[in-house]
Amino acid sequence: MSRKAKCPICGKHMVAEHKPFCSQRCQKIDLNRWLSEVYLVPGQDGEAALEGSGDHEGGDDDWQGR
Ligand SMILES: [Zn+2]
Repeated sequence: MSRKAKCPICGKHMVAEHKPFCSQRCQKIDLNRWLSEVYLVPGQDGEAALEGSGDHEGGDDDWQGR
């Protein structure tokens, strides 16, 4: 393929300097997306570390009134 590659973020022509993006800005946007995806998947055992995860599920009305 000899067609110019396009920036996956905004669709403009890719700039070799910022491959495969068109600019540093799009590079950062992609990086942020990637990082937030990592945060969404904290690992298989990440759930156990959360506080109050389902412990008080049964007594919703009770603790809300206090
Ligand atoms: Zn771009």
